[in-house]
Amino acid sequence: MRKIWAMVGAASLFLPAAAGDGATAAALRDRALTDPTAWNVLESLSYEVGPRPVGTPAYERARDWAVAKFKELGFTDIKIEPFAKPSWKRGAESAEIVGPHAQKLTVVGLGGSIPTPKAGIEAEIVVLNSLDTLLAAGPDAYRGKIVVIDQPMVRAEDGAGYGAAVRARYAASDAAKRGAVAYLVRSIATGTGRAPHTGHTTYAADAPKIPCAALGAPDADLLVYLAAKGPVRIRLKLASAEQPKTTAWTISGEIRGSGRADEVVVIGGHIDSWDAGLGAIDDAAGVAITAAAAKLIGDLPNHPSRTIRVVMWGSEETGGSSEAYLKAHQAELPKIVATSESDLGADRAIRIKLPKGGATVPALAPLADLLAPLRVLVSREPAEDAGADVEDLVKAGVPAFAFEQDASRYFDYHHSADDTPAIVDRAQLDQNVAAWTTLLYLLADSDADLRIKSAK
Ligand SMILES: [Zn+2]
Repeated sequence: MRKIWAMVGAASLFLPAAAGDGATAAALRDRALTDPTAWNVLESLSYEVGPRPVGTPAYERARDWAVAKFKELGFTDIKIEPFAKPSWKRGAESAEIVGPHAQKLTVVGLGGSIPTPKAGIEAEIVVLNSLDTLLAAGPDAYRGKIVVIDQPMVRAEDGAGYGAAVRARYAASDAAKRGAVAYLVRSIATGTGRAPHTGHTTYAADAPKIPCAALGAPDADLLVYLAAKGPVRIRLKLASAEQPKTTAWTISGEIRGSGRADEVVVIGGHIDSWDAGLGAIDDAAGVAITAAAAKLIGDLPNHPSRTIRVVMWGSEETGGSSEAYLKAHQAELPKIVATSESDLGADRAIRIKLPKGGATVPALAPLADLLAPLRVLVSREPAEDAGADVEDLVKAGVPAFAFEQDASRYFDYHHSADDTPAIVDRAQLDQNVAAWTTLLYLLADSDADLRIKSAK
C-alpha cells in the first residue's frame, strides 16, 4: 500500500498549478505528502506518553506533552481547559477454563466493569450467537451462568460493521436481568488476532451490576467449540477501581488568522486512549493529522484569513469532552465556522462530506480537482457524524465536515494491545494530512458562511 501512495505523491508533484487560491492549496497538498510532522507527532505521543486513560499519571503527561508539542509546532493561544468526570482504572485480570479442557483464556475487562470478588467467579457458561438471542430470552433464562455472546463483526470499508456490533458491548445488564453472574463478549473487532479489544460499557439502573469483559476472537471460537460438546466452566477474575470525580483536560492551540481572526475552524483528535495498546491509531493519528495539517498552513508567510484551532479533546473513550467543550465555548458558537474530528485511524481518506450545501460554496469549488490526485471524492451527501467530540457543537448548529477513511482494517487493532505505530502505513497517514490541509486552507482563507447553507 505504501508503494501506491508513493506513486500518488510523485504524480501530484507534476500537476499543473491551479489558479488563484487553488495554487496555494495545491502546493500545501503536495508538501503534506512528504512532510514528516504527522508521523513524528504520532510516534511521539504513542511512544513517549503511551497508553493514557483519564485519571492515570500518563494522562497528566499527555497534557504536558500536548502543550509542549503545540509550542514546538508554532501554535499560539495554547489553552488547557479542565473539566470533571468519573474515571475507571483496570487491575489484574484473568480467565481460565476449569475441568477437563483446563486452559487460560485471553480477556480484557470492559471499561466501567465492576470487579469480581477477589477469588473470582466460577460458573458454567452459556454461549449465545447474537445479542438478539439474549434479548429474546426470558427473565430467568441464565440464572447463575456466565453469558458469552459470540457475535462476529462485519468488515466494511466505511467501518459500518462497528455500529451494528458494538451494542453487544453494552449488554451486561441484559444478561444480569436474565440471572447471569458475569458477561463475556466476543471482541468487537474484525481480525483473528488473539489480543482482546476493550471499550467502554455502561450498566442499566434497573439491573444488578455484573462483571464484564471481552474475549479474544479465537477464545470465543474455543468456547463455542467446547460448549457444543458439553458443559464448560470458567473462572473469571477482574479487578478495577472507580473514582467518581477526576480532572480531565482538553488542550488547544491556534494558527491565528490574518483577516477574520475571530472566525475559527475547530478541528482535532482526542488525547485520551484505552490502556491496552499505545493509542496510535486511536487517536494519536487524529491528533497528528490535524496538527500537521494546521502546522503546514501556519508555516506559510501569510496566514489565511480565519483562525484554525487544533483541539486535543480530553475524554472521548469514556465520554465527557464533547459536552465540556460546548459548555466552555457557548459564547463563541456564532464564530465557529466549521468543525470536524479525525478519529477513524491512519488509513487513507476516501471521501469528504461537507456541510449541507457546501459543494455549492464558491470558495470550495476547487476542492474536487484538488483532492482527485489523492483519490479522495467530494461526497454528494452532507456530513452528519463529524466525530464524538464535536457532537455537541454540531447539535448546537456548528457546520460539520467529515473525512471518511478506509476503515477496512481499523477494527483489527482498535482498543487492543496491537494499537501501536507498527500498524500505521505512513504514506496513508500523509495522504490524510494532504487532504485535510487542502480543505482547511480553502475554508480558512474564505469568508463563506456555511452555517446558512447548513440550516434546514
Ligand atoms: Zn477514538
